[in-house]
Amino acid sequence: MNLINASVGKALFPSILWETHRPAIHLTFDDGPHPLATPKALDILKNRGMKATFFLIGKNVQQYPDIVLQILGDGHTIGNHTYNHPSMFFRSKNFQVEEIQKTSDSIQKITGKAPEFFRPPYGYFDYTTLKAAKSSQQQVVLWSIDSLDFKNLPNETIAPKVVSKAKAGSILLFHDNHLTESKITSLVPMVIDGLIQRGFHFEPLSSSCLN
Ligand SMILES: [Zn+2]
Repeated sequence: MNLINASVGKALFPSILWETHRPAIHLTFDDGPHPLATPKALDILKNRGMKATFFLIGKNVQQYPDIVLQILGDGHTIGNHTYNHPSMFFRSKNFQVEEIQKTSDSIQKITGKAPEFFRPPYGYFDYTTLKAAKSSQQQVVLWSIDSLDFKNLPNETIAPKVVSKAKAGSILLFHDNHLTESKITSLVPMVIDGLIQRGFHFEPLSSSCLN
């Protein structure tokens, strides 16, 4: 399911946000809060005055509430990325609703606000996922450009590809987790600088992305 690209995905699953109509690029970071990777991502964004979107895993939210508050305090958007990071594909409705709801509750308890956006782990979803997200009043978000930052590839290979593929409204996928912790500080600025050189600016996901 995650192998379909944004243009095919938009035709098959128009209710999902694959990219937006905004004149900006949307940086998204999945799998945090992570004690090492997330603060690095936050530093990079703060130094450049940029806002992004963090899709958080509920069990990590419980473990690192201070980092959740830092994400919020820095003005980023917080999204839901399930509680245990399972594949949602072909799981029961109860299972999927619980993964989403438990995470929303955990985030709301800390931030005072339930997330409006949901991203299924690995990009795996089925119709039950779409219904479960809808019943929790969350917009399902995937991406139009996968940075492949979790793969063991040099930044010099990854960054130019991401930069050249980007267009207005692109949703870029990065991770703040144990796989990217050691390279986030070098890779993400390389991509951001390339995009700035191309004249882009950056926006977190918000309700204005849905119009
Ligand atoms: Zn993930």
